[in-house]
Amino acid sequence: MSFASQNFSQEIVRALDECGYEKLTPIQQQAIPHARRGNDILANAQTGTGKTAAFSLPIIQQILDKPKAASRFNIRALILAPTRELAAQIAKNIEDYTKYTDIKVAAIYGGTKMGTQEKKLEQGLDILVATPGRLLEHMELSNVSLANLEFLVFDEADRMLDMGFISDIRLIMGDVRSQPQTMLFSATTSSQMNKLASEILRKPKRISA
Ligand code: AMP
Repeated sequence: MSFASQNFSQEIVRALDECGYEKLTPIQQQAIPHARRGNDILANAQTGTGKTAAFSLPIIQQILDKPKAASRFNIRALILAPTRELAAQIAKNIEDYTKYTDIKVAAIYGGTKMGTQEKKLEQGLDILVATPGRLLEHMELSNVSLANLEFLVFDEADRMLDMGFISDIRLIMGDVRSQPQTMLFSATTSSQMNKLASEILRKPKRISA
């Protein structure tokens, strides 16, 4: 199954072509049709399966379908990841996928200066990739607002729980009142994971690859 046959915009198809992506991976085949329709998703997926494109391409397409002015007080999509390395990698992939669009993406994570990240936020953005602790710090300083969030992704959710991010996640969710389309990706499952999933997902499509 090719990306062109999935009715993605020409800008996306061209960028994916340059990434060398020809066919959808199994997780992409399962996730993309549901995610394009706006369904919540609970995905059991290992790293290296192509999960980043599985959740980000449907978000990118939906943002392109309904353009809005980018602003740090109007973040449209939030992707939470457990580590700075993963957050940076996701943002890099999304930059590659959106290179022929006006979509703005940034990553914020611990271990780098708040001020530098604040400047990035000030420039306005559509898609924010963040680790939970550093995102909360920026939220507490009113550097960023999730009031109008339309899309929310938890990547490697099991690792975020293992790392003790559950209370940060709950605090972040307390600011999300817009009922975004939510996708949770995890390599393993646990009772804590099932509890989180039942709290944040509405009628999720369950997929596995
Ligand atoms: P991920 O699981 O998202 O970390 O992706 C693993 C690797 O597969 C990354 O290097 C991606 O760039 C690559 N990848 C993702 N989707 C595809 C695809 N459809 N075709 C070829 N490579 C892909």
